[in-house]
Amino acid sequence: MHPFRPIFRTFALLTPMLLIVAASVLARTTLEVDVARNSLVQGGFVTVDARGTETAPVVSFMEKEWPMFRQEDGSWQALVPVENLSEPGRYSLTVSAGERRRELPVTVKPNGLKVQYITLSPSKSSLHATAIEKSRVKAALMTITPDRLFAEGFIRPCKGETSSLFGLKRSYNGGPATSYHKGIDIAAPQGTAVHSTAGGRVVLAGTVPEGFEVHGNTVILDHGQGVTSVYLHLDSISVKEGQRVEKGGQVGTVGHTGISTAPHLHWGVYLYGVSVNPELFLVNRPVFLRARR
Ligand SMILES: [Zn+2]
Repeated sequence: MHPFRPIFRTFALLTPMLLIVAASVLARTTLEVDVARNSLVQGGFVTVDARGTETAPVVSFMEKEWPMFRQEDGSWQALVPVENLSEPGRYSLTVSAGERRRELPVTVKPNGLKVQYITLSPSKSSLHATAIEKSRVKAALMTITPDRLFAEGFIRPCKGETSSLFGLKRSYNGGPATSYHKGIDIAAPQGTAVHSTAGGRVVLAGTVPEGFEVHGNTVILDHGQGVTSVYLHLDSISVKEGQRVEKGGQVGTVGHTGISTAPHLHWGVYLYGVSVNPELFLVNRPVFLRARR
């Protein structure tokens, strides 16, 4: 008889019991973290899921902290933006919940977008964002609320061709490219209906007479959990601040107000106040809406 056999037998019996005990201990103590890496380009975002904690976890990434939000199944999620002008390369992403932390390597890839040269007429190029529109837009885009109003997904807000992509670095009238396009432009006739990209709440409805001289008539929606969307250059606005809007509900019509060379909708999506490529939200079954384990 092999001398180790009885020991193996004992282990064979004990192992399932040990695994059950270990699993129940781990369920309370292990912080599980998933990072979906498929959109890690400049101007993209990373979906971070965590479970196994009652303490609200926080993501640390690119020297900033991003709070995570409780989901219906008890897990936590954050859509963490990768700023369009960030340096491509290797980074580490950390999720912390109390004393526990998990660190994961992530690689940010370049989006390969070129400089776009724009010529504005003297009357348009002399317009500068007023203090009122700057501060009201910034405050609205930084809205962070806990309810996930975007659970039904996202739609393209307006019929028409995309006339300008997200992320293009911009040079106005031959000047240096110091900014980039923080949304997509959809060319459409004046008066075309503009719809809410997802369920949300109106956090800003601003008009040219109120000082929105660059953005034009503007609507900003809060979709919850750090996600907001903007609709610029509108001809008319059909919602009021504080109002709930369903996905696809009309918020206004396409116009030519503010700095705009032809009737179009400028549509942007922001995460924690950072603009990301809105087309990433239109993919079929986006990672952040998939059923989690
Ligand atoms: Zn635009």
